[in-house]
This record gives sequence, C-alpha cells and structure tokens, in this order.
Amino acid sequence: MTRIIAIDGPAGSGKSSVSKQVARELGFGYLDTGAAYRALAWAIAEGVVAAQPTPNLHQFHYSISLNPDSFWVKVGDIDVTSAIREPRIAEAVSSVASVPQVREFMKNLTRELVSGSGLPGVVVEGRDITTVVAPDAENRILLTASEEVRLKRRSAELTPAQAAEVSKQVSDRDKSDAKVVDFMTPAPGVVLVDTSDLNFEQSVSAVLALVG
Ligand code: C5P
Repeated sequence: MTRIIAIDGPAGSGKSSVSKQVARELGFGYLDTGAAYRALAWAIAEGVVAAQPTPNLHQFHYSISLNPDSFWVKVGDIDVTSAIREPRIAEAVSSVASVPQVREFMKNLTRELVSGSGLPGVVVEGRDITTVVAPDAENRILLTASEEVRLKRRSAELTPAQAAEVSKQVSDRDKSDAKVVDFMTPAPGVVLVDTSDLNFEQSVSAVLALVG
C-alpha cells in the first residue's frame, strides 16, 4: 500500500514548495490536489466542461504528474500546467470547489491517483487532505504561517501595486475557501507546523522530523 503524508494549509503557507521538497528527500511522489480544482475551473472557463446545473464531471478528463521533478497537469490532451495559475482561474476556483459533487469527485480522484501510483509513498497537499481525503494517513500535518508572512511570501517578486492586488486575491480566496473547509485549525491528531519564523530549509526539516 502507498503511504500518504497529508499536508493541508492556506495559500502562501509554503505548503507546495515544502511538500515537493519533502517528497524528493523521501523518494516519494508529490500530489498537488489544488491543481485538479484549478483544472476544472479552467475546463469550465474554456467550455470544455458544462457548468450547469452542476459541473458535468463526465466531461472532465484529468491527468497529473506525481513526479516532484517533472510537474505537469493535463485536461484531455491539453497541457494546462501554466494556464491554471492565471489570475482568472484563481478567481474562479473557490466557487467551483464549493460544489459538494465536485468535492466528492475530487476526493475519489485523489484516492485513485495515490492508490494507482505504484509508489512507496505520496506527499498529498491541499485543504482537506488531513480531514476528508486521508483522515487515516500515517502523517497528517497542517502547515501554516501568519497572514502577514503568507502575503509577504506571495508578493516577494512583485511590484508594490501587484503585491497589493495579490494580497487582496489571496485573502479573498482564503476567506471563500474557509467557508467550505476549515484549514486553519488542526483537526484532532493533526500536527500544526507554524512556518512564520522558519525559512524554507527549516520548514522542510520540521516536516521531515515529523515523518521520520
Ligand atoms: O492549493 P491551490 O491554491 O492551488 O488550490 C486552489 C483552490 O482549490 C483552492 O483555493 C481551493 O478552492 C481548492 N482546493 C480545495 N481543496 C483542496 C485543494 C484545493 O478546495 N484539497
């Protein structure tokens, strides 16, 4: 059976880069579950998937790389790795992720991607991995950081005007997402790792120390 290291956290907590590095060091796969929600939002925006009355998930043909060193995301034959990072997708994704049928589909999709991976382990990161997708995982971690630090990390490479815009987008998205899943307080048995005062290497070490 494939071992799961479940890592949840808000935008800008460092969860993606830390999870990827932890996967590399352990020789495990890496699964970014937010990418599937983004890909679905992209598919709806492009008319590949009908949105009404609820997203037609039969039309959603999704694939993703679990290799932390060669990352790609596809809808059908189309590589959407960069397209799903566009601001228009970030703006649309929370509403797609709030649909119960979508969440159920994503839970099953994530479990299938892990069980079919053939890997010894997968670091799975998202918002509801420790609570809904893999509540029985051997390691469950909530990676967080203060809002100030998270916004700073997200804005590090931007102009002040862009940074202000990104800050607003990130906090708006966290607010919408938090209505659906609580990813700010650790559920029973979930270990909280606060990275506010940790740099990247220290955050990776903190997680590795927990997973052993
Ligand atoms: O992690 P990322 O910011 O790329 O996730 C994009 C969006 O996907 C989140 O804002 C949230 O709406 C949704 N998501 C979710 N549950 C997860 C992962 C992501 O609802 N496990």
